[in-house]
Amino acid sequence: MAADHSWTSMVYDICIVGAGLWGSSAARHASLPGRKVCLIGPSEPLEKDRPSRDIFASYYDVARTVRKCQGSNHFRSLMTMRAFKGLQELEGTTGIQLNATAGHIFYGKDIESKMAPIAKEEGVLLTAEDVHKRYPFLDTSRYGDTAMLFPINGGHANPRMIVHAEQKAATLQGCDIFDDVVESVGESGSHTHGEPVMRVLTKNGRHLLAKKVLLCTGAFTQLKDLLPPSTELDFGIDGTFTVRLEVGEDDLEKISSMPTMTSFTDPEWNCYMLPPIKYPDGKYYVKIGPLNQDQRRLTSLKEVKDWFLSKPDPKLVEKYRDLLLSIVKGFNPVSVKADMCVCSRTPTGLPYCDMVSPRLGLAVGGNGCGALLSDEVGRMAAEMIAGGENWNRDIPREMLKAQFITPPSNL
Ligand SMILES: Cc1cc2nc3c(=O)[nH]c(=O)nc-3n(C[C@H](O)[C@H](O)[C@H](O)COP(=O)(O)OP(=O)(O)OC[C@H]3O[C@@H](n4cnc5c(N)ncnc54)[C@H](O)[C@@H]3O)c2cc1C
Repeated sequence: MAADHSWTSMVYDICIVGAGLWGSSAARHASLPGRKVCLIGPSEPLEKDRPSRDIFASYYDVARTVRKCQGSNHFRSLMTMRAFKGLQELEGTTGIQLNATAGHIFYGKDIESKMAPIAKEEGVLLTAEDVHKRYPFLDTSRYGDTAMLFPINGGHANPRMIVHAEQKAATLQGCDIFDDVVESVGESGSHTHGEPVMRVLTKNGRHLLAKKVLLCTGAFTQLKDLLPPSTELDFGIDGTFTVRLEVGEDDLEKISSMPTMTSFTDPEWNCYMLPPIKYPDGKYYVKIGPLNQDQRRLTSLKEVKDWFLSKPDPKLVEKYRDLLLSIVKGFNPVSVKADMCVCSRTPTGLPYCDMVSPRLGLAVGGNGCGALLSDEVGRMAAEMIAGGENWNRDIPREMLKAQFITPPSNL
């Protein structure tokens, strides 16, 4: 990564702010021959450096559920189908393995009615008893009598590796990547060849100029001066957490065929789960996290930073440990760990992929499924910011439009 702190006379065609899942994908898709693109964002902090950071990310983990069909929403499913294919192509071009096939199960109450028709094509409708027959260590019956299994095209992927692979491909295509935090974005008042340009100022003192700026800054979008003055997006940040249960050798053999899982049951017990996966400490863990409940709405940079540096309420850790053990039967965890994270929320439940002004665009709002969507949202955002006509394909732009509490004054 470049490390100079200077003013540069280079004018980028596109500057992408936020080197997480969506920004790294956008950088890959935007970096076409003849176009000068840069991607700016801080790399993941080492544990010892976390207290001195204020900008984190939602991808600091080794596993996210990823599948071809998101399932419950037609438009999200269309995007995930394309994102899934995009990740397979990325695996091919970079040689980095991203997807691990484990299958996916939705379980709970009246699952069939919760699934979008497009998703049902690859799903197998089961009863809770059928689930138990296929996976003798799983018992979902307490949370509803139905399930839908996606035996293929679903499982998990390593979000750190997705970011790495997207950035590797972007760099090979000529994208400049800067390890830095952007403090502000605005109109520069300068022109290049008669065209107005944007200025981007960073924490390390970089001053960049770009014809267009794309914000892929996730939950942090409104926590620095990145949007036009007085603009406020209708956009929430929810502090959340995951609970990891260490799997001993005996249990590993027993439950290794576990699929990834998502529930549709009483809101109190809704969760997602991942099978045993090897973590950087060399140990295997199964993971569980809440869907929308048991989270805390955060509103300031300080609150978000404090959240990342804190630990979850022990009662919640216990609740999710017990929830997992009520489904994965006969499993004796060796230890219990918890990790803090944040989810960004839009009122539409869909990403915002939109232009805020003629030279500033954004792609934000993962709503807890941003890994599933990542490669396709990055592609759409890259084509949108480059002025492409058909970037949204068959997804109505209206559905991806940013909603504001206070709109920018030019809208
Ligand atoms: C606990 C947890 C579990 C999840 N599980 C799943 C799952 O199983 N499946 C799934 O599909 N999704 C899951 N998600 C959601 C998914 O991880 C997010 O939706 C996804 O990371 C969103 O991608 P993003 O690029 O918008 O945000 P991020 O990946 O967070 O990237 C945003 C980037 O912008 C950078 N940034 C922010 N502000 C600035 C600035 N001022 N200057 C420079 N850079 C900046 C950040 O450092 C970060 O790297 C989960 C999320 C959490 C928290």
